[in-house]
Amino acid sequence: MNSATHPFDVLMNITARPPVVFVRGEGSYLWDDTGKRYLDFMQGWAVNCLGHSPPAVAEALAAQAKLLLTPSPAFYNGPSLKLAKALVDASCFDRVFFANSGGEANEGAIKLARRYGALHRRGAYEIITFDGAFHGRTLATMSASGKKAFEPLFEPKVPGFPKARLNDLASVERLITDKTIGVMLEPIQGEAGVWPATDPFLRELRDLTTAHGLLLIFDEIQTGMGRSGKLFHYEHAGIEPDIMTLGKGIGGGVPLAALLATEAAACFQHGDQGGTFNGNPLMCAAGLAVLEQVAKPEFLKSVVDTGLYLESELQRLSARHGLGEVRGRGLLLALDLKHPVGASIVAQAFGDGVLLNSPQPNALRFMPALNVSRAEIDQMVDCLDAILTKMGAARRVA
Ligand code: PLP
Repeated sequence: MNSATHPFDVLMNITARPPVVFVRGEGSYLWDDTGKRYLDFMQGWAVNCLGHSPPAVAEALAAQAKLLLTPSPAFYNGPSLKLAKALVDASCFDRVFFANSGGEANEGAIKLARRYGALHRRGAYEIITFDGAFHGRTLATMSASGKKAFEPLFEPKVPGFPKARLNDLASVERLITDKTIGVMLEPIQGEAGVWPATDPFLRELRDLTTAHGLLLIFDEIQTGMGRSGKLFHYEHAGIEPDIMTLGKGIGGGVPLAALLATEAAACFQHGDQGGTFNGNPLMCAAGLAVLEQVAKPEFLKSVVDTGLYLESELQRLSARHGLGEVRGRGLLLALDLKHPVGASIVAQAFGDGVLLNSPQPNALRFMPALNVSRAEIDQMVDCLDAILTKMGAARRVA
């Protein structure tokens, strides 16, 4: 019997959501079912890299839906071959396995590294990960994550993920044993509050892992597909990882993710990995439409330019209101609020029709569409400026 008393109560209660229903999206804007419009600087948590319902993705989906939805992952299909070829051509990797979510792609990366350890390193299986990391919500990826709130959950954890400190090479070196098979990290820790690994640290990590015969695994689920101003973040450091995962932006709003590896690291054997919907032509057609736009040099340059503009506007706001640093790269930026007022700002901005995100109580994270306009940035900054002014006045009165 359905005992739900409110229309929202049919869904499992997994997070606090504002009591509105979204019905339409276009570019940087979303509309709820009362017709209220919201300027979106979250974009599904860095998912809609071309904005809401971009025509290129909508058209690719409609065309592919009329042709072929899913033949079975046991058969080849055109869009998955084309997308894999385009990703391989645009990166340092040789082989691709498609998945349906970032967590699933990372789960695949962990399995691939363990398979490599079984084949080449006498069963080594440990993957060094980092405090503050976020790699997903499967049991293994929660165990690989370094998120404090995950620590008491779903015990026992999957073993084999010792934690080092970001930008501290000695802390990685200390954890290497004959059980170690790789090091896995996000080049910018997004969920932790946008904490970048420095380029020198990434280069040192490449040297260290190469010297020890370990796999270097980049989780580019948040930073990949142009978000940092390069197609893939690893390019900033001038290094080549052995394995990379993509998610979020790769589908431009639809569930698509990918696990990429060099020929040497791509050691899955038949039966190791798979999935009913993996590499289905519908999602891969969307991925192709996204990659076609995002990989253009002029598009990536516009991400850099727009990112610098957003960064300078946030710095201006920070100076005006006595806040902290602006950090991040491209269009993945955070503003340090110095005080735990993130949730309150997000709630006020929501009321004003602007969607912001506060991944940590004292920080705001900005991950707009990669084609966000300067006028839209100005509109968001004006809204934030007004909220901060009101909060400052309230603090002075109190
Ligand atoms: N890895 C990183 C760096 C992420 O930011 C996320 C999601 O926020 C994930 C993995 C998990 O991706 P998904 O939510 O698609 O499973």
